[in-house]
Amino acid sequence: MTTDQQDLPTVCNGIGPGLQPAIAGGWLTLDNPATGEVIARVAASTAADVDGAMQHALAAAPAWAALPAAQRGQLLRRLGDLIQSHLDELALLESEDTGKPLHVARTVDIPRAVQNFHFFADAATQFSSEFHDMDGLALNYTLRRPLGVVSCIAPWNLPLYLLTWKIAPALAAGNVVLAKPSEVTPRTAERLFQLALDAGFPVGVLQVLQGLGPDVGPRMTTHPQVSAVSFTGSTRVGREIAQNCAAQLKKVSLELGGKNAFVVFADADIDAAVATAVRAGFANQGQICLCGSRMLVQRAVYPQFRAALLAKVAALRVGDPLDASTDQGAVVSRTHFAKIMGCLDLAREEGAVVAAGGHAVQVAGRCADGVFVAPTVLEGLTQQCKTNQDEIFGPVVTLQPFDTEAEALAAANATQYGLAASVWTRDVSRAHRVAAGLQSGIVWLNTWMLRDLRTPFGGVKDSGVGREGGLEAMRFFTEPKNVCLAL
Ligand code: NAD
Repeated sequence: MTTDQQDLPTVCNGIGPGLQPAIAGGWLTLDNPATGEVIARVAASTAADVDGAMQHALAAAPAWAALPAAQRGQLLRRLGDLIQSHLDELALLESEDTGKPLHVARTVDIPRAVQNFHFFADAATQFSSEFHDMDGLALNYTLRRPLGVVSCIAPWNLPLYLLTWKIAPALAAGNVVLAKPSEVTPRTAERLFQLALDAGFPVGVLQVLQGLGPDVGPRMTTHPQVSAVSFTGSTRVGREIAQNCAAQLKKVSLELGGKNAFVVFADADIDAAVATAVRAGFANQGQICLCGSRMLVQRAVYPQFRAALLAKVAALRVGDPLDASTDQGAVVSRTHFAKIMGCLDLAREEGAVVAAGGHAVQVAGRCADGVFVAPTVLEGLTQQCKTNQDEIFGPVVTLQPFDTEAEALAAANATQYGLAASVWTRDVSRAHRVAAGLQSGIVWLNTWMLRDLRTPFGGVKDSGVGREGGLEAMRFFTEPKNVCLAL
């Protein structure tokens, strides 16, 4: 760290009653990917910080678990309200950390964090337990109790949105939380910690650990007093966490990568499919686990779909995230930019024909040193090539024609992943047939990323284990105990 960097604003751990640097004293630097500027230094935590937070968590856990659900719900609601009243500040932090357009952070990321707390504020009081009557012989009921201390670990693409999607149900169910944002998007989590204290959460109920995943994450998943781990991130890290949790028989929920199919049949409303395909492919610079990165289009409408898609992609404006007219901001970091560029080189080696984009974009002015990628459409690739198999997590989609329903289904299922799929057809029977045949945790019919927070959310195969959302999340964060009373 240079002398100049020592004057940078800090992003600290939220441990116990306040913000703290890492015990070992290390710092990471934080870049704004849209400008290339170093904007802060971030506490580089280690296992010692996790152990410190654990002391506060254990002290807070019994009283939090014993608090009536309605009071927990009130605190969650108040925290949601506080996030809402800090929307402008939080959206700017999120935009600067991730490179995403400010208007996206304002209309998607931060409002969803508010919604997460409001939704689970209600869930706290609406969660009921099961009852089984044994025909006069006995009565069974199920007690659902909080687990204790849980770790919630989130990625960088939707930082506050995804972290709060875990934290809110964990708290609603009566657990205390150790939360970790990604090291490249740490600032909204620091503010969340402060807002939780402002809302009246007791010290130790929600704590935030900053730092590199490999330095701080393993202690968060192996600490013997962590009862469960809820993780969203890459399949590689998810596997490691699953192994750590298996060794101690910890509960684990894993929301991992995707390589999602966007399937368009010839009888679909093509205009609607194209308009949605642009969102599905390029929203958040293609950095959403649910993005439809493999577009499978029935041959009869392929030319029509292709032409309309390319016209809309050409109209996407890549530029300064603070400019209200920008559709595509920067990708999240220089490292991720290099990864995407490597994927584009590989695609060319694999024989891809670049129908749109395929290159970096130089943005003028204050963003001259930022990392921007042109929205890219690739054609002419096989289903088995790495470009169609490996997650790129950037503004890159492939277009592939198919002839029959069976061929479409086989192609859609031909990856290791199984998170989400979007299917476009006016044939109701086919819609249901294909939905049933897709190896995917989520299927959208004639839409994409339409979310009802009550529904189970998660993937199959390498896309994860377990489900988030609604009662699924409340079940994950509680331990059921059957009580049988003989009559
Ligand atoms: P990542 O796996 O590198 O990191 C995710 C989080 O885990 C970060 O907070 C990181 O610091 C932490 N971490 C890293 N190593 C760790 C370790 N050894 N132990 C514990 N924690 C560790 O993922 P990323 O690059 O931040 O995010 C992109 C990935 O997330 C993509 O694969 C994307 O598909 C996936 N994702 C999935 C969903 C979903 O709901 N399925 C949603 C968003 C993103």
